[in-house]
Amino acid sequence: DLVKDEDLDMLQDLGAGNGGTVTKVWNKKRGCVMARKLILVDAKPSVRKQILRELQIMNDCASPYIVSYYGCFPVDVHVGIVMEYMDAGSLDYIYRHNGSISIDIVGKVAEAVLHGLMYLYDVHRIIHRDIKPSNILANTAGEIKICDFGVSGELINSIANTFVGTSTYMSPERIQGAPYTIKSDVWSLGISLIELALGRFPFSDSPEAELEEGPPSPTASDYDPDPTLPLSSQRPKLNQDGSVKKERRRSKGVSLGGGGHTMSILDLLQHIVNEPAPKLASRRKTFPEEAAVFVEDCLYKDPGERKSPQELLAMDWITNSKVTKDDLRVWALSTVHSEKD
Ligand code: ADP
Ligand code: MG
Repeated sequence: DLVKDEDLDMLQDLGAGNGGTVTKVWNKKRGCVMARKLILVDAKPSVRKQILRELQIMNDCASPYIVSYYGCFPVDVHVGIVMEYMDAGSLDYIYRHNGSISIDIVGKVAEAVLHGLMYLYDVHRIIHRDIKPSNILANTAGEIKICDFGVSGELINSIANTFVGTSTYMSPERIQGAPYTIKSDVWSLGISLIELALGRFPFSDSPEAELEEGPPSPTASDYDPDPTLPLSSQRPKLNQDGSVKKERRRSKGVSLGGGGHTMSILDLLQHIVNEPAPKLASRRKTFPEEAAVFVEDCLYKDPGERKSPQELLAMDWITNSKVTKDDLRVWALSTVHSEKD
């Protein structure tokens, strides 16, 4: 039996992103907590119906690596999607509040995401299209799951009409207009893993911005990459002669190259296409060779060279991991507790 909006009492806001806002809700009928996402859909009724039909595929998605789906319905100009509430939150939330994530845990994140991607593709022929730390969620049962995958072509279209859904986790081939493949998700995973391990978005080379493990100091969080801001909102302003105006607001650029200068989103996309891929490396920390090699294999710029999820799951970093479910539970609990202190 699918959840309806009238079953839900709003508890608290969990966050807002590109196309939606997420609220923690209480399901009166079932007596449990859930998460409700509202997506603004600017489309005519027939298209909205089509979207709600397409979202029904999520009903058939059952995997320990995919956030469970409980129902969807229209809410005035929005489409509401009710899903499993993940009590430790998204991995970007976790690292911003607790500092960078230890590399052994990051390995388990990689494993879970790859299992989730393989499930979506092998069973449903779905490509995720939006792998990034905010779409990877954890709970205190020690589970790591992915959410917000591209099930509905119509939904993707209607969001794309209002937002040019470009994010900086996008692979070089996608930036250049090639179609999505599961290999584009692998690139986005590689970028996300570096971000979690360093505690900063990898296309920023400013060492002050790097978060240490453990709670970040207030000065360490001055970096605000907004990596998911839509391209449309970041288009550089033109001077009267058509040249690009210097970006003034630091928060709109991404710090790069250690020289303290910032790049616009368009420069960043160009950088991803033209420059060598980032690596799992830091001036402050050393990482196991196995982890660095794994990430390198996610980030070949040529999708033909990039490894597939199956190949990545067979790599040493994954198969030699000693992290148990209990370790993940303890880790997730520690991130939740430090929040209350
Ligand atoms: P984005 O993924 O771009 O951040 P979303 O609207 O998808 O934007 O999500 C907003 C925030 O809500 C996420 O960053 C995450 O912290 C939180 N969130 C989303 N889904 C859930 C969920 N099922 N359980 C707990 N928190 C969630
Ligand atoms: Mg999301």
